[in-house]
Amino acid sequence: MAATGASTPCKVLIIGSGPAGYTAALYASRANLEPIVLQGTQPGGQLTITTDVENFPGFPDGILGPDLMDKFKAQVERFGTKIVYDTAVEVNFNKRPFIVKTDEGTQYEAETVIISTGASAKLLGIKPEAELMGHGVSACATCDGFFFRGKEVVIIGGGDTAMEEANFLTRFATKVTVIHRRDSLRASKIMQDRALNNPKIEFLWNNEVTDIIGTKENGVTAVKLKNTQNGEETEFATQGVFVAIGHKPNTDIFKGKLDMDETGYLKVTPGTVNTSIEGVYACGDVQDKKYRQAITAAGTGCMAAMDAEKFIEAHEASLATT
Ligand code: NDP
Repeated sequence: MAATGASTPCKVLIIGSGPAGYTAALYASRANLEPIVLQGTQPGGQLTITTDVENFPGFPDGILGPDLMDKFKAQVERFGTKIVYDTAVEVNFNKRPFIVKTDEGTQYEAETVIISTGASAKLLGIKPEAELMGHGVSACATCDGFFFRGKEVVIIGGGDTAMEEANFLTRFATKVTVIHRRDSLRASKIMQDRALNNPKIEFLWNNEVTDIIGTKENGVTAVKLKNTQNGEETEFATQGVFVAIGHKPNTDIFKGKLDMDETGYLKVTPGTVNTSIEGVYACGDVQDKKYRQAITAAGTGCMAAMDAEKFIEAHEASLATT
């Protein structure tokens, strides 16, 4: 979309197009609020980088992540949601209507804003990682653990996520090896103990994964390691690689504009999706570091749209009486 310099007014502007954003759009469009969705840099969100999704209700045979997101999109388009292929780059929540600018130079004036920009799993950044994602490499044990039934897998990281996911993976895998770059864990004591005492979990200390060996067709067969103490390079046979080195909420543009916790997740009033600014809502992984599931994201997306609708109604009623 070319820069116009003009401002587009709207009642509900939704930033982000994962399960949270699209569910917010579904409810808002069915309430005749004519929402606009800014798709962002990863249209469809994190599910578009997974393969089979078997834990989203309503799909007894499972569904591919990208196909599920296509269905979300088609459903919101059916009710008139406008989807724009832009990314929000700047916001001003100091006064209403709220101003949101995009990378294409477009400006929106929104009565309410729903933030569903999600979080991104941190990755190692080594070359085959992205290419083999969904083909033996995963950043989500809850999503993909099931596909490693009877296999041997490794998990990279030493924090709570790595310990939790290592324990979870032992339900399916015959052996889980935690590969950590140091010789002590960052995870909380209780999570460490659980993993250290699990007979199906082994630890490979002081090692970094430098390469993943495998193909899209046949999956992963091994990882290459470098010892962080003596530089020694080895190969470790494995059928699956889980990267669990943390997540980063996509909140850079909201820094200084909305309350966040120390790790950058947007703060909402407990039990609600209200951010620190009235009329601005946050749903999905951008405000949730605990559950991080498509279904919980969708649930909070619904809450955000319903609250936005009530906010607009109350605002319009107060304007009518003044
Ligand atoms: P953390 O940041 O706590 O841990 C990340 C781990 O990954 C660290 O051990 C770190 O190593 C390692 N790491 C980071 N970058 C790399 C890299 N490039 N190569 C290799 N290893 C790397 O993230 P988590 O996701 O584990 O946890 C995030 C937050 O969520 C924490 O506050 C945690 O307590 C919380 N959480 C709570 C849970 C619960 O209570 N059930 C479950 C999951 C998370 P190093 O230690 O050397 O820095």
